[in-house]
Amino acid sequence: MTKYKFAKVPPRGEAIEFTNGALKVPDRPIVPFVEGDGTGPDIWRASVRVFDAAVERAYSGQRAVAWMEVFAGEKSFQQYQDWLPQETVDAMQEFRVSIKGPLTTPVGGGIRSLNVTLRQVLDLYACIRPVRYFEGVGAPVKEPEKVNIVIFRENTEDVYAGIEWKAGSPEAEKLGAYLRKEFKSQIREKSALGVKPMSEFGSKRLVEMAIRYAIEKCKESVTLVHKGNIMKFTEGAFRDWGYELARDKFANELVSEADLSKGGTGARADAVIVKDRIADSMFQQLLLRPDEYSVIATPNLNGDYVSDAAAAQVGGLGIAPGGNVGDGVAVFEATHGTAPKYANLDKINPGSVILSGVMMLEYLGWNDAGKLIVRGLENAIKSRRVTYDLARQMSGATEVSTSAFGDEIIKGMIA
Ligand code: NAP
Repeated sequence: MTKYKFAKVPPRGEAIEFTNGALKVPDRPIVPFVEGDGTGPDIWRASVRVFDAAVERAYSGQRAVAWMEVFAGEKSFQQYQDWLPQETVDAMQEFRVSIKGPLTTPVGGGIRSLNVTLRQVLDLYACIRPVRYFEGVGAPVKEPEKVNIVIFRENTEDVYAGIEWKAGSPEAEKLGAYLRKEFKSQIREKSALGVKPMSEFGSKRLVEMAIRYAIEKCKESVTLVHKGNIMKFTEGAFRDWGYELARDKFANELVSEADLSKGGTGARADAVIVKDRIADSMFQQLLLRPDEYSVIATPNLNGDYVSDAAAAQVGGLGIAPGGNVGDGVAVFEATHGTAPKYANLDKINPGSVILSGVMMLEYLGWNDAGKLIVRGLENAIKSRRVTYDLARQMSGATEVSTSAFGDEIIKGMIA
């Protein structure tokens, strides 16, 4: 076991194991958490009470999470002069499943995004974002209840690989000159340059995770979202590799939309449909006919836009969860940032971290605890005692604090 200098390993907890492609979860799993910057501490205080209450209620005290605080971001820098201590990464790797609050990313130079670093170092290649509607939440579209999708966004390649050079830098000048000379590329002088790498390996493993999820959860379809009409060899290849993987690995469980329109070529009635959409058309489709989509697999940048847009359709960032998942290692986190203007006001909506915790509990196989939390949140929203962000979109709502909203969720956990 790693020797931890800053973090304390809970004495009564046990490590989650990963063998033969499956997690082995003890009754008291050690789960590292990062409180997060800005509103992170307010949110974490409310969230952890909700998680513990749900687990206690679902398993009558037979199971409990052994929380282990690990450090990253501003708190870590203030206490240990290190934005991301190596031991935090080690703990997330060693204990396999963790949860984090949002972390500040200084704009323009300074440190690289801690979130991006964590995803890359731990090879958390899929960012999974489920988006669904909770009855009663004010939403900007007419039929938000038709949105129920899970987005699998590639998390290590494309723009997240972060390969770019500043305009006028010696590197950009050298590369620009090379491209102009060797490939006759039309690149203006003093251009900034970026490279968008997308591999067959990276694309296929992401699509495979999305397909496995769709089959396991009996979803209707998997849609490959790409911009292959313009970027043929990156985004277009993502689509082609996706279909290839579907054909090679899941021939019995899947049918392509094209084959289906020709009569299904003998596909099983419960086969998951694989289709693809160009990214710009996907935004329209999500607004106009969201119920035709259930699982989306997409490269990094498309996924970034699509997941925030979809979250807005059902009422915003306050209830938009996420998980960064690799093979046997996962870090769950809210979609939103640190929302610094609300820090320490006990005001912000903890729903996004709480729902990220639901994803975490489901990943552990603790589905009953997850269901209790979802019911608690549904009932809290029905009671109209909600945080400011939801209150301003609902008629007749009473605004309550972060901690009071946590209490409402616990109160609403009726088995
Ligand atoms: P942000 O923190 O997500 O906040 C933007 C706005 O979204 C807030 O002002 C608020 O809108 C709404 N919002 C965010 N979280 C909410 C919640 N829990 N409940 C209700 N409303 C919520 O985005 P930002 O201001 O662009 O970023 C701030 C910092 O966070 C930056 O340093 C950024 O790099 C970082 N960040 C971190 C992560 C991460 O750790 N994963 C992700 C994104 C951004 P209203 O004021 O209109 O109510």
